[in-house]
Amino acid sequence: MRTANSMQTSSTETMTGPSVLSHDESSIREAAAALTRSGVVAFPTETVYGLGASTLDPTALDAVFRIKGRPQDNPLIAHVLDIEGAKTITTGWDDRCTLLAEAWWPGPLTLVLGRGESVPDQASGGRPTLAVRSPEHPVARALLEAFGSPISAPSANRSGGISPTCAQHIVDDFSGDPEARDLIVLDGGRCRVGIESTVLDMTMDPPRILRPGVLTPEVLEPLIGRIETTAIREQVHSPGTAERHYSPQTSCMLVEEPELIDRLASNECRCVVITSISGRRELVQPPHELILMPLDPAGYAMELYEALRRADAERADLILIETTGEDDPNWLAIRDRLMRAASERLS
Ligand code: AMP
Ligand code: MG
Repeated sequence: MRTANSMQTSSTETMTGPSVLSHDESSIREAAAALTRSGVVAFPTETVYGLGASTLDPTALDAVFRIKGRPQDNPLIAHVLDIEGAKTITTGWDDRCTLLAEAWWPGPLTLVLGRGESVPDQASGGRPTLAVRSPEHPVARALLEAFGSPISAPSANRSGGISPTCAQHIVDDFSGDPEARDLIVLDGGRCRVGIESTVLDMTMDPPRILRPGVLTPEVLEPLIGRIETTAIREQVHSPGTAERHYSPQTSCMLVEEPELIDRLASNECRCVVITSISGRRELVQPPHELILMPLDPAGYAMELYEALRRADAERADLILIETTGEDDPNWLAIRDRLMRAASERLS
């Protein structure tokens, strides 16, 4: 079923944006056919929505970079149904990869391997390596099955912006953009995980986490032994880890209680406060706004990008995020995204 997103700009002129399709069989067929014609399809995964194109089609991959405004050297993650699919586009798949994939695929774990010969440069931003993952979301899997070949997909937001966790976020980001005129969005509801996959570089020994996700070294190491992690500010090998990323337009700060109180009391600016502490209701009074987050990391991750988007839409002067879970590994990926959302714009 098609619910084209169209905005009336004058009585005669219609500004079209992405077309949102439901996820019934005919929509999946239509989306797969668009991929075959070098089209771009946004689709849900359990982490965030992806902007998908055929991994083996340079023209389609170019369109993904154009729509996102993504730097050409920023690699994409290739999505496959299973281990066999991953092996067709990578080199260097070994027993450790099999152990990891058998335990966590389909799921939010991306493995970086050698890039297979059939895979064009664009799929990996010109690198000799290729990131690959098998998504769990039934709509992503149905699309992969209907298309019958790997689909490369970065998150379906503009480069540097906040990743989308529902179809409406993509419409909000690309509505009226001529580059996204033919973009199809498969609506598969809200993403269950809510933040991007763990990226694990398997081309080195020991393997290294390039981007933290909900799958932490604590759950992966029992399978394959020691894994290195990279301090957030040193993550230069994985471009999606550029310091400022996942960022609202509004200035954003991570604060602890004393600074939160000071900022709210100073009356210099209108703030949106994102916190898990329900007791902040008394402190955050108009004109300031409060966005209350879940106390557990899984719930927090699921709501994080929606909260950042809502906070941004308030057009306040400042977004204040009260930090949580200081040394708990289960909060690491969330802290990573918050630090990037809050870091200074690179000049
Ligand atoms: P996105 O799909 O927008 O979350 O971005 C994919 C991210 O995965 C990239 O920005 C990188 O951080 C990481 N990635 C993908 N491919 C590679 C690769 N070949 N080497 C290192 N990191 C990669
Ligand atoms: Mg991204």
